[in-house]
Amino acid sequence: MAFKDIVNQKKAKEIIIGQLKSGRIPHAYLFLGPEGVGRRKTALELAKSLNCQKNAGSQSGYHEPCDHCLSCQKINSGMHPDVQTIDFAWQAQLENKEVEKQKTIKIDTIRALQHEVSLKPVEGKWKIFLIEPADKITIEAANCLLKTLEEPPSWTMIILLAKHKENLPVTIVSRAQIVFFSPLSEHEITKFLVSHNSLNEARALEIAKGAEGSLSWALARMNEKAISVDDIWPRVRKERLSTAELLSCSQQYAKNAAEFLDELLSQMRADFRAHPQCAGDAIEAVIASQKLLTRNVNPQMVLDVLFCQLNKQAGTR
Ligand SMILES: [Zn+2]
Repeated sequence: MAFKDIVNQKKAKEIIIGQLKSGRIPHAYLFLGPEGVGRRKTALELAKSLNCQKNAGSQSGYHEPCDHCLSCQKINSGMHPDVQTIDFAWQAQLENKEVEKQKTIKIDTIRALQHEVSLKPVEGKWKIFLIEPADKITIEAANCLLKTLEEPPSWTMIILLAKHKENLPVTIVSRAQIVFFSPLSEHEITKFLVSHNSLNEARALEIAKGAEGSLSWALARMNEKAISVDDIWPRVRKERLSTAELLSCSQQYAKNAAEFLDELLSQMRADFRAHPQCAGDAIEAVIASQKLLTRNVNPQMVLDVLFCQLNKQAGTR
């Protein structure tokens, strides 16, 4: 991984690399943008640049992180003692509570962060803290954090990751270097999925259309396991499948579409006596899909249409 591997975000990378080269490195950054567009990856590349052992020994100015030294490797694997993410998981551990119950970043969490900030780095030159989601910080926690942003120890860098700056107090925003991250275009996501994941272009575009600019979302959809054949009918009889589930199902079962439709049909027929109304409509839809397959219509398209129909019917059952 390197800065160049972060898709798009040319302006963001230019600002950060420019500051690294000039040596005028701010102690606080605010990375603004939607989820899944590279904010976190960029923050980690920045952390690697600051602590890379190869860079530390270099006399000829800034170089990209080497990705091989112990420091770079530890950051890549999330094991570097001087690079910490302050998020809901970290807070849950502090409070000894479930992550799901965390809705805001609280003042006690910022106090714990301040204790960490006050300690010198263990291995690297810099201590880097990522706060995410920074726009979920409470007002009192933000006021507490302000003290650290005003007088940070020389070895500290705090990177706030947030979607919108409007959700953060102006006092915090004004003390950080703002870097904007933009959503990726459908074309950029499609290109990435095709070149890095050998997906066919039509499929990649389909996923990209649902991604709303988020590459992480698109990659997660690609790797998502489809619902098992046995579970599809019991699920879709009661509720709609999400767009992601719908995409992964039609992608996975397109390879053996005929067998898949046979299996689905036999489940529906077995269910017909108990639920004649809803199974009846669904059976008709599957039979229509089987006919399309015999006419050599693209299997994935057939399944896409079928799942959309089943979803539509699910809303009326
Ligand atoms: Zn390195």
